[in-house]
This record gives sequence, structure tokens and C-alpha cells, in this order.
Amino acid sequence: MRMLRTVFRTANHHTIPMSGTGTSGLETIMLNLIEPGDDVVIAVIGYFGQRLVEMATRAGANVRVLEAAFGEIVDPSRFAAELEDKPAKLVALVHAETSTGADQPVAEVAKIARDAGALVAVDCVTSLGGMPLEVDAWGIDAAGSCSQKCLGAPPGLGPVTFGPRAIEAIARRKVQTSTWYMDLNLLFKYWGDAGGTKQRAFHHTAPVSSIYAFHEALRLALDEGMDARWQRHREAHEFFVAGLERLGLSLFTPEAHRLPMLNVISIPEAVDDAAVRRALLERGIEIAGGFGPLAGKTWRVGLMGNNANQLRIQRLLDALEEVLP
Ligand SMILES: *Cc1c(COP(=O)(O)O)cnc(C)c1O
Repeated sequence: MRMLRTVFRTANHHTIPMSGTGTSGLETIMLNLIEPGDDVVIAVIGYFGQRLVEMATRAGANVRVLEAAFGEIVDPSRFAAELEDKPAKLVALVHAETSTGADQPVAEVAKIARDAGALVAVDCVTSLGGMPLEVDAWGIDAAGSCSQKCLGAPPGLGPVTFGPRAIEAIARRKVQTSTWYMDLNLLFKYWGDAGGTKQRAFHHTAPVSSIYAFHEALRLALDEGMDARWQRHREAHEFFVAGLERLGLSLFTPEAHRLPMLNVISIPEAVDDAAVRRALLERGIEIAGGFGPLAGKTWRVGLMGNNANQLRIQRLLDALEEVLP
């Protein structure tokens, strides 16, 4: 808990890894913060924003969506206009949208949402550990990430953090959350109250082997230092982009809001998407295809954790040079 707080840059007591991948952490946030009938505003700039909408809808929220075209972001002023029009209990957004490679500015949106009296929840599954994310300084009330992306641990845990405003909102609920497994009140009877004075009550078996692995990944991340780690991801991205340019390739996402750890490449005309990915796979390198409308038009290259490394990137660039016509 202590190391995870440092990585999230928060003093929140309620900071734990949920037993399940990143999605379990996000669903924990939605199911605990939303009561049926609540107004929720969600930014959708790609596939993962849409999943937040689905979770909020299933939790019974009246969801209002702020949408942007693929590759674009929602201008913070649109949140202000939307909330001025009609308040909301919660504003939810994806920080690093993995389907489009776009960086949605969180600090500005969080301030606007708080000023309008809304809670702020952030999907930082792809961003945590790979780019600046400041839970407390930015005023984020709840954030959820994963173990396997920029923190480089095995998949299986969904680290979450809840701030005091979120905990108060949960305490004020009129109806209990529909989830038993992800009920924060029950979970913290096991993980412990802030003073650590109350008796702990069994909830579910902790996936201890995953937690040991995650503990080691956090230790390595803190040994490197968060600022150094963010810088390493940034430099890896710049090294990769320079190499792509030499190969005549360019990125799909506009430079103004590009992510460092998730690079979306425009596939040139006359290049066979699947054939290139297959040839790379034969050389031991897996890159991802595009999502939804970007399928066949883009490749997605993750430079996360150990893969934010120039030797590994050079290996991919060399393989691309060999494989591309
Ligand atoms: C990967 C990802 C998820 C899902 O995380 P899992 O660990 O696969 O459950 C959610 N949101 C974003 C933005 C992601 O990139």
C-alpha cells in the first residue's frame, strides 16, 4: 500500500491492488461511486472510454457522453460547458487512451469537475508508471490502473486509489453497491482502517503470488524513481519516432497529444497489415493491430516498462526495415 501510494503520488489510505486485471479496478471504482439514477459525465475518445460508459450504464447511471474523433481529445472547456448546463455526481475519463494513442489532459479536467462539485475518476491503466500522473496534486478522487503495462509486473492486479471525497460519497450511499466482491467497505475490513486499530475480517483469499510479483515491480519502479521512469518512456518514444521517420513511417496521433508509451503508426497505402505483423511475430516481436475503425489502418506499438528501452526498439526498427516492402 505504501509503495503504491508513492507510485500514484497520493497520500490516500484507500490504495490497494484489486484481485483482477486493470478492468476489475475500474469496475470497482464505477460500482462503488455510482448509485442507480446518478448523473455521470464520461469522455469517450476511443474504445476504453466506451467501456467506462458501459460500466456506468450497468451501475444504473444516467450517462452523458462527451465524444471526440479517434486520435483527438475532448477539450476541457467542453466539460465546463456540460457541467454548467447540468451538474453531475461523477466525471470519468481515460488518461491514456490505448486505442488511439491520445493523452487526455486530466489536471485541467479534474479542476473543472471539482469546481462544479463532481467527483473525478480516471482510468490510468496505460499511463501509470510511464508518464506524469499526480493523483493528489491534480485533484483526482479515484484512479485505477493495472500491474502489467508501464509497471511491468505480470497481469492479474488492478491497483486502485480512493481519496477522502470518494470515501465520503461511498459512506453516504443510500443503497448498497450491487457487487459483493468489489465492495470497498468490505474490502477495507480486510485491508485495514486508516488507523489500523480495528480487527481485520476475512474477505477473499489474496492472490499472494501476484502481490509478491507486483511488490517487486513497485520496488524496481521506486528504485528507478518515478520522474526518471517517465523520462525513460519519453526518450524511448522520441527514439522510436525518429527511427520510424527514417523508415518513412509516421504516427497517426497528432503530436500535440501523443502518448509516449503507446505509439499508433499509420500503415502506408499498399502495405499489408496482417502480413507485416505476422513477419514480425516470426522474428519474435508482437505489435498490435488497430482498434475498431482504425483496424487495418494503424499498428499499435507499446513501449511500456522494460520495453521502453532503445536496444529493444532498435530491434523492432531493424525488423520493420527488413519486413516492409
Ligand atoms: C489495458 C487497458 C484496460 C484494461 O486493462 P486490463 O488489465 O486488460 O483489464 C483498460 N483501460 C485502458 C486504457 C487500457 O489500456
